[in-house]
Amino acid sequence: MSQKVSQGTNFYNDVLAYFDQAAALTNFEPGLLEKIKVCNSVYKFYFPIELEEGKVKVFEGIRVQHSHHKTPTKGGIRFSTFVDEDEVKALATLMSFKCAVVDVPFGGAKGGIKLSPIQYNARQLEKITRRYTTELIKKNMIGPAVDVPAPDYGSGSREMAWIADTYSAFKYDDLNALGCVTGKPIGQGGIQGRTEATGLGVFYGTREALDNTEDCKKLGLTPGVKGKRVVLQGLGNVGFHSGKFFSEGGAVIIGIAEREGGIFNPNGLNVEEVFKFRKEHGSLLNYPGAKNIEPTLATLELDCDILIPAALENQITQENAPRIKAKIIAEAANGPVSKDAEEILLSKGVLIIPDLFLNAGGVTVSYFEWLKNLSHVRFGRMEKRFNQNSVSNIIKMVEKATGKSLDEKERKIIARGADEIDLVRSGLEETMIFAYNEIREIKMKDKRITDLRTAAFVDSINKLGVAYQSLGFFP
Ligand code: NAD
Repeated sequence: MSQKVSQGTNFYNDVLAYFDQAAALTNFEPGLLEKIKVCNSVYKFYFPIELEEGKVKVFEGIRVQHSHHKTPTKGGIRFSTFVDEDEVKALATLMSFKCAVVDVPFGGAKGGIKLSPIQYNARQLEKITRRYTTELIKKNMIGPAVDVPAPDYGSGSREMAWIADTYSAFKYDDLNALGCVTGKPIGQGGIQGRTEATGLGVFYGTREALDNTEDCKKLGLTPGVKGKRVVLQGLGNVGFHSGKFFSEGGAVIIGIAEREGGIFNPNGLNVEEVFKFRKEHGSLLNYPGAKNIEPTLATLELDCDILIPAALENQITQENAPRIKAKIIAEAANGPVSKDAEEILLSKGVLIIPDLFLNAGGVTVSYFEWLKNLSHVRFGRMEKRFNQNSVSNIIKMVEKATGKSLDEKERKIIARGADEIDLVRSGLEETMIFAYNEIREIKMKDKRITDLRTAAFVDSINKLGVAYQSLGFFP
């Protein structure tokens, strides 16, 4: 009798298969490639929590560090009943390659707690999160120089604040203790722009793809985001912010899918209003002016230009791939397209913008947050006024020389110095544009590479290979 394989195992097998496919296109020797492929450390543990007086439940926690070619390692913590060892290994492996694609100097890691967060109140979740952190401290698997978690599916800034506080309590003499985790609230050492960073990165990365006239022509699309019809899956952190930035960029969100079902309106849905409606009613179904779609997965099959899966892995499989009509799949989630589905989609000419590049905005801004924590100074604090005064002086000189003068509003716009949020967004935009063009160029230069995912894997394997070689381990 065949044994049922978990979604996590399918996901990990897909990641390993993508790796093998790309590794065959590089020039490293097999021993080095094996080193790049395997997960370095896998720690699985069980801990008891007293949920109510006299009622104890044992929880399963996992932390995987995929690669130590650069430290600290970095990766989110997932709170989900689907968490299993292979899923976390797949996500940790992707993190190493993701960091390499966007030149963030971390090794990859990932963690998880097997639970459904909606089944517990805040007090209970706090106990669970703090105990999970303590278990990591006991094994030296967390710390600003060791391994730095972040939010992922089912967790957010609140959980990161509990982690930072627990770590700081144990390591009270560590000056850099707040750098042990990213995605924290601003008051706890967080950074402006982290919450929306992944969604904004999804927007910047897709916008860059749409800026290429030649590529758009092949897809039968006009260049630019404006007017593109978008379908979103998942209205959590990544999905909500992706939808918001695409709307602001002039796209039309025609469909949104959540767990309970999907909604469709060809004239456009207001993402913020849909979010509010769902919060009030507990469901997005029956949203005014929209048509309900059930089952929820059918939403992904709507006729659209861009499909943004932003929920979980394995949403587009061999089964539904033939019915997908989108011209671009923008992988906001990790692993939303299975490998066999990818083959079908590529043969139909769909452009898949891969997760290991496209959702790297989160880790990029997490890197900025970590730098802020280590430097103990807000970005922009030192130079904002200096730059503002310098530009003001130049304006005054030009005014004097030309006899013309700016009004107060114009002067403020031109002379404004950059705040933390301006610098974070500028750094994120530069990162996504640079990385997109780097992987696109790899694809264009090597005729054996026909898709962006393979190009991104080749790019990151090359970077990890060189890093390991420079450590002197391998020829
Ligand atoms: P989240 O928990 O904030 O949101 C996920 C949303 O998906 C929830 O609203 C949930 O109800 C919805 N969902 C679950 N199952 C669904 C289904 N079958 N159909 C439709 N919707 C469904 O999580 P998130 O942080 O937004 O993460 C989403 C994805 O993005 C994950 O794959 C995660 O690994 C990836 N990611 C997140 C970040 C980050 O910074 N948070 C960074 C990189 C990648």
